[in-house]
Amino acid sequence: MEYQLPEKVQQILETVSQAGFQIYIVGGAVRDLLMGREINDWDFTTDAKPEEILKLFPDGFYDNKFGTVGIPSDLGVLEITTMRKEGIYKDARHPSEVSWTNKIEEDLARRDFTVNALALSREKMVDPFNGCQDIEKKNIRAVGNPDQRFKEDALRLMRAIRIATQLGFEIEEKTFQAIRENAELIKEISGERIRDELFKILASPNPYIGIVKLREAGILQIILPELERTFGISQEGPKHARSYDIGEHSFLTLKETPTQDPLVRLAALLHDIGKPDTVEVEPDGNVTFYNHDVAGGKLVWEISQRLHLSKKQSDKLYKLVRWHLFSVDEKQTDAAIRRFIKKVGLENIEDMMALRVGDRLGGGTQKAVSWRMEKFTERIHQVLQKPFTVSDLKISGNDVMQTLKIQPGPKVGEILDTLFAEVLEDASKNNREYLLKRIKEVA
Ligand code: ATP
Ligand code: MG
Repeated sequence: MEYQLPEKVQQILETVSQAGFQIYIVGGAVRDLLMGREINDWDFTTDAKPEEILKLFPDGFYDNKFGTVGIPSDLGVLEITTMRKEGIYKDARHPSEVSWTNKIEEDLARRDFTVNALALSREKMVDPFNGCQDIEKKNIRAVGNPDQRFKEDALRLMRAIRIATQLGFEIEEKTFQAIRENAELIKEISGERIRDELFKILASPNPYIGIVKLREAGILQIILPELERTFGISQEGPKHARSYDIGEHSFLTLKETPTQDPLVRLAALLHDIGKPDTVEVEPDGNVTFYNHDVAGGKLVWEISQRLHLSKKQSDKLYKLVRWHLFSVDEKQTDAAIRRFIKKVGLENIEDMMALRVGDRLGGGTQKAVSWRMEKFTERIHQVLQKPFTVSDLKISGNDVMQTLKIQPGPKVGEILDTLFAEVLEDASKNNREYLLKRIKEVA
């Protein structure tokens, strides 16, 4: 296997080993190096103690209680951790003790998957668990007894699926069986950590496969129970040309939505979660879901809280789900189009259109974009280019003068400005009848 190590990495290997210590590149970096993938963070492990590493690297800084020294470089912060082995786990997340070791094999044994349990020094590759072979076979396999490893740390349940999804690997059978058997343990993991893993799955090249795996493992049902309820609900009915299960449609929408943004992908996956709460069968057998957009908005807001999304992320997720039923009737008035832009947020319009494309394709429509959507998009651009000014108000200075029976003067302009500000806030107020009434109220 041919690979080129960056100069700073070579320099670290050299400096530490010349000082008489062992030093290895470990973990994901070795895996990515073998696979020819881009390397995000370089992790090293050594038998030198943090103080000894700090002596060798004057610009290094002490990172945390586990004895990691960070070294700033053009590759980001390079982390050197002193080799350690783990004792018994006291719960599904925290080992009760961690102790130093000078045997690289012991350090590798505490790592989660064989493809992450590789160490590379200047001389050799240390691969006690056949990680190299698993990389070749595209296999995610737990180091040691899978059942025990997931019981030790339940975050590994999602890490397995996340790493498999990122790398395009399969999860080896026994490992996957252990994930299924221990799926419930995911309840012990915090919302933030679940969010981080979920977003990494959603940001990967093929999030659909990852979400399918999460469901096969029984984890999706626990982290997004609202989505699981959509399985088994059909929108079959005379008015629907095609029939499909809403859960399947949600998965397909995720697959088809043209975006790389994990949050928009999450919106695609969740856009119909309001349907189970609003399903009704009409006398003619037609199935309806009135206000499922409103119900869905409420549900995604709760999900945002549970997963600790930021205010900005929650807001965007809410808007995409709440308004996903927007009409693409291109004949809408400027005011209606401005209202749409205001509700959805200008910065989200493109993502909203992408969601609509996914919704169509995920519903069995062959064509991604209808002529009506194209026209509607055109209208949005037109409306955006037209600056909205006082002269766009449905009333004029003459109306103000006549209504209040006043002469031309600064008062006329003041009243128009006040009403203009109101209309800017809410374009539906640009209605002649309403504004004529408002003139008297604001005068
Ligand atoms: P990426 O950085 O792309 O997320 P990675 O494999 O480098 O992938 P990190 O979370 O950075 O993952 O962890 C670095 C290494 O630490 C892993 O390769 C693995 O060897 C080990 N590791 C991380 N988390 C765990 C865990 N929960 N249990 C056991 N080992 C772990
Ligand atoms: Mg890493």
